[in-house]
Amino acid sequence: MRNATALIALILASLVLCARDARAAKPNILFIFCDDLTTQAISAYGDSRKLLNTPGMDRIAREGMRFDRCLVTNSICGPMRAVIQTGKYSHRNGFYNNSNSTFDSSQVTFPKLLKQAGYHNAVIGKWHLISDPVGFDHWHILPGQGAYYNPPMIANGKPIKHEGYTTDIITELGVQWLRDRPKDKPFMLMLQHKAPHREWEPPLHLLGHDKDRVYPEPDTLFDEFEGRSLALRDHDMGIDRTMTASDLKLTAPRSLTPAQLQQWNRYYQPRNEAYLKQGLSGRDLVRWRYQRYMHDYTACVKAVDESVQRVLAYLDESGLAENTVVILSSDQGFYLGEHGWFDKRWIFEESLRTPMMVRWPKVTPAGSSEGRIVSLLDLAQTFLDIAEVPQPADMQGRSLLPLLKGQPPADWRKSFYYHYYEFPVPHRVRPHYGVITERYKLIHYYGPDLNDWELLDRAQNPQETRNFYTEASHQDTVAELKTELARLQKELGESVPPPRFTHGNQPFDNEPEATRPKPKAKGKSKGKGRNTQPQSAQP
Ligand code: CA
Repeated sequence: MRNATALIALILASLVLCARDARAAKPNILFIFCDDLTTQAISAYGDSRKLLNTPGMDRIAREGMRFDRCLVTNSICGPMRAVIQTGKYSHRNGFYNNSNSTFDSSQVTFPKLLKQAGYHNAVIGKWHLISDPVGFDHWHILPGQGAYYNPPMIANGKPIKHEGYTTDIITELGVQWLRDRPKDKPFMLMLQHKAPHREWEPPLHLLGHDKDRVYPEPDTLFDEFEGRSLALRDHDMGIDRTMTASDLKLTAPRSLTPAQLQQWNRYYQPRNEAYLKQGLSGRDLVRWRYQRYMHDYTACVKAVDESVQRVLAYLDESGLAENTVVILSSDQGFYLGEHGWFDKRWIFEESLRTPMMVRWPKVTPAGSSEGRIVSLLDLAQTFLDIAEVPQPADMQGRSLLPLLKGQPPADWRKSFYYHYYEFPVPHRVRPHYGVITERYKLIHYYGPDLNDWELLDRAQNPQETRNFYTEASHQDTVAELKTELARLQKELGESVPPPRFTHGNQPFDNEPEATRPKPKAKGKSKGKGRNTQPQSAQP
């Protein structure tokens, strides 16, 4: 009898140990998230301009999977962060725009569900959802957009001031948290950079990193939007018309210390003086601005790449690499001069597509790539699936786990729905929605003065400079895509047609075509009157 009792006790003890092991064996999740990082600036994506070499990010791709068509549902910062938290489109999670949305943190989010399942969670860096993070054991965030230098931050509700470059500070805070976290639980860390968001302020050690290289220009730098909707011509996000003195580093940021300012001036001042002497205008001015923009943007990305290298090295040193899923992504892509633009918002490829690469040793095939349409919308369910936590039925994405294992389901999505809302400030990008397939995009732009459709055909026109909507050759496609658009809207619980939003999410009725104002003339004034735009008005 005594032996039998001892045996039962032994079995029970083994079961407890096994359960503990199983819990400890759950994969850790490290989500490295950037703001406005675009595929054109990551060497692993092979852009023809070869803007920058990114060995850190390329390592994730080389040792894991590169997603070639990861799409966003609404191409701006706050809304995509709400989509990631909830696994739901803006019209379901209620966060439509950066201007006046506040995240309703009482919603079900993936961090809350992971925490309930025993994960230890943290978010460090840019948050940008206005309300405080919920579902995290630790948070240390930038208020709002945050600053590039010497940033004030908020640690679990308490203000704290840091000195240094924000990308480096976020990196060190992340590594420190990884080092100090409780070791008896799996972790989920959202390490979220501010960079390379406007105003693309570089780390001082990378000023002149490109040795005054001349960057190749995109073919569409001087796009005149011939045959396109008024929506495109009427934008306010052009290198020619919208960039400010601070965007162009003709003025220094206020957040620098006197010593930092000296270093800043050593690089920018002589170059700015040479620029002012030239008295550039027209296309020459746009070209100069493009070069300055590329120097600054790529320097910011290079700093993020150094951060990625540092964090991956820490995972190696600490023995965490093997059981940690590393995901690198961005809240959307960005225009690096294509169509004459900076910024994002549009359904066009550069800002619709966002980088995503995943390293998960022994699960995800090294050096693989995946061209199916996936989305940041899928991340909440993917994270839950990785952690073996049930996915709520009302989440609207799909777990990427089968794709990560190299076993894509036959019924993977072939089309995708997009809806952008924020108008008129800050960049006069008209609200629009549409359906995207591998080859086509059918788009509806709407507004008090606008009711236009476009069809893009990436096979015939990869640069997306031509509207095929009224062409006889494409009428069957237009009809098919209208049906598919209506199907997706119904499936996703979007009103059909969607409610008309203007700035502040106030609905409006479409006006008859005859009352619309005439399109503005091409070739607006170059850079006049916009350099005084207050920082607060910027996205
Ligand atoms: Ca962003």
